[in-house]
Parts: sequence; structure tokens; C-alpha cells
Amino acid sequence: MQRVEKKETRELYRDRNVQMLLSKFLSGEIKTLEPVYASDVGYRYPVIETILGDPSQVGPFLDKLDDAEVLEKKLYDKIIFCPKCSSADIAVRYCCPFCKSFDIQKSSLVEHVKCGYMDLEDKFYEGDKYVCPKCHEELRKIDVDYRKAGIWCTCRDCQKSFDVPVPTHFCRNCGVTSTFEEVTIKDVYSYTLKENVTAESSLNLFLVTAIREFLIKAKLNVESPGLLKGKSGATHSFDIVAYKADKSQTAIVVDLAMSTETVVSEQPVIALFAKIFDVSPERAFLIAVPTLSENGKKMAELYKIRAIEAKNQEEAVASLDANLKAA
Ligand SMILES: [Zn+2]
Ligand SMILES: [Zn+2]
Ligand SMILES: [Zn+2]
Repeated sequence: MQRVEKKETRELYRDRNVQMLLSKFLSGEIKTLEPVYASDVGYRYPVIETILGDPSQVGPFLDKLDDAEVLEKKLYDKIIFCPKCSSADIAVRYCCPFCKSFDIQKSSLVEHVKCGYMDLEDKFYEGDKYVCPKCHEELRKIDVDYRKAGIWCTCRDCQKSFDVPVPTHFCRNCGVTSTFEEVTIKDVYSYTLKENVTAESSLNLFLVTAIREFLIKAKLNVESPGLLKGKSGATHSFDIVAYKADKSQTAIVVDLAMSTETVVSEQPVIALFAKIFDVSPERAFLIAVPTLSENGKKMAELYKIRAIEAKNQEEAVASLDANLKAA
């Protein structure tokens, strides 16, 4: 998209990988991109791995889309990594605060409401009945006859009792036990498409796709995004670059510009002119959705840029077709 104020986002929309991911969101194939648990690395995003073909690029790719406010992230989980082997296959162990053993017995404290006697739950069992060990009355209803007064733990190693155990982390990969101070904790996110991105990106995406298909049918070689090197030595990026099959002639370049509410300003015309001045393509098109400002039209004429106004992809393709045939 030719939106000078959001250059990074514009570049992102030209990225085929971004387009592939967006089309999955826009078609409803993905509503929320959720990570999938994998015991070795913690979490993966298989969909993104398939698109990128390189698992190591998944993190930077998602960060980029989050930074550009294309995707919205939401905390999904936190992964704990082993400080020794970096595995995410970590189990939490609740340990005795005195001797650090994880062989602890967890039980409930039960109180007989009527007599006030309190003891561990298993002291109240008498066969299949629940009986107060002090006054020997049978207890039937929870919160009426008796109530749970909390949790009580006993260490099977040092025999001491306590109410709050100490958590440690046991690595199922290398067997090392680590404390909260020692482990690395990483946030894991789920992603959704930002609401305001939807309309703009879908139109841009489908417009590019429709124009690509049309140009390919017209027996042109198409690159999208297309990079062309200018006389200055700089490389310029266009939404679409098309060559004649024999490459004997210079390219046709197409940029898209969209305004969701009002008319497209002259800015994309100026941006496109700066590039074609250096690249000198055979023809340059600016497709403005839905309309181009009067000033923009005047400038386009002056700069020999063919401006096409279109409300949708059908109109854009039909108009481009007419323009190419008229040449
Ligand atoms: Zn480990
Ligand atoms: Zn202990
Ligand atoms: Zn009692």
C-alpha cells in the first residue's frame, strides 16, 4: 500500500509470507493463532513454520507483525526453561521447606464445627463414615457439620509439617532440579488480526492477487512485490512489476494506493514518481481505491503515471485491461 505515513506496514503487505498469513485470517481459516505445545521447545506455531519454511524465523516474523500493529498479541502461557539444558520439559515439584524433599503428603485440615476439634482429614475416617476423633459424633454435611480449614502438608522424609510448600522445577530432559531464581521464563502469545487492519489489508491483498492473475493471463512475467534497480544504483520496490515474456522491453510497474474513508491523496503519486524517475519503466500505473484527489490526478498526468480509480478488484482489472489494450 502506498501509505507514506505507514511505510513499514506498507512494506509488510508486500511480503508474500505476510500475505499468506493474512489470507488465512481473512478467509476465516485462522481466527486466533494459538501456539501448539511441544515438550522440547515449549511452543511452536506450525502454521507460521509452514509459511516461512524456517522455524528459527517464526519469532522475528511474529514480532514484526506485532510491532507494525497488524497482529494483536495476548498472553497465552509462560514457559519455564531448564537453566542447564534449556529444555522446556519442566515439571513443577512442591517441596518441603525444611529439607527440600519433594516427597510430601498433601492433606486437608478438617474442623468439626460443633466441638471445634481440628485435625488432618484422614483422622476423621472410620470405615466408610466420617467421625470426629474427639467427640465421636458422625459428620455428614460439609459446611454444616464440618468444614475444610485449609491445606496441611507433611514431609515423608523429615516428618515435619507445613502449610505452604516450596515449588522447584524438575527437568524431565536432564534431571536437574532448579529454583525460581535459576530458571528462565518466557512469555508465549496467541495472535489475532487487528480489527482495523482487516478491511485495508484484505482489499490490498485481493487487489494484488487479482492484478497478478490478470497480468499472468496477459502472458507477462509478474513479480509481486517487484524490485527494480534504478540508474542511481538504488533498488525500488513496487507492488507489482510485469515484464514482456522476452524481457526485451522495460517493465510495467503498478502501485496500489488506498483510502478507507476519503480520497487517496497525491502522496502515492509523488512516491511512485520518485521511483520511476530512477527506474524508467515502460509504463507506470497507480491504482487508487476508491478515488484519487484532483491534485493527485493532475500530478499523475504531469508525471506520465496512468492513474486508475477503482472501487474493487473487478473494476481495477477491467480498467487496467482497457489501458493496456489502448497502448
Ligand atoms: Zn535440563
Ligand atoms: Zn522435609
Ligand atoms: Zn467433635
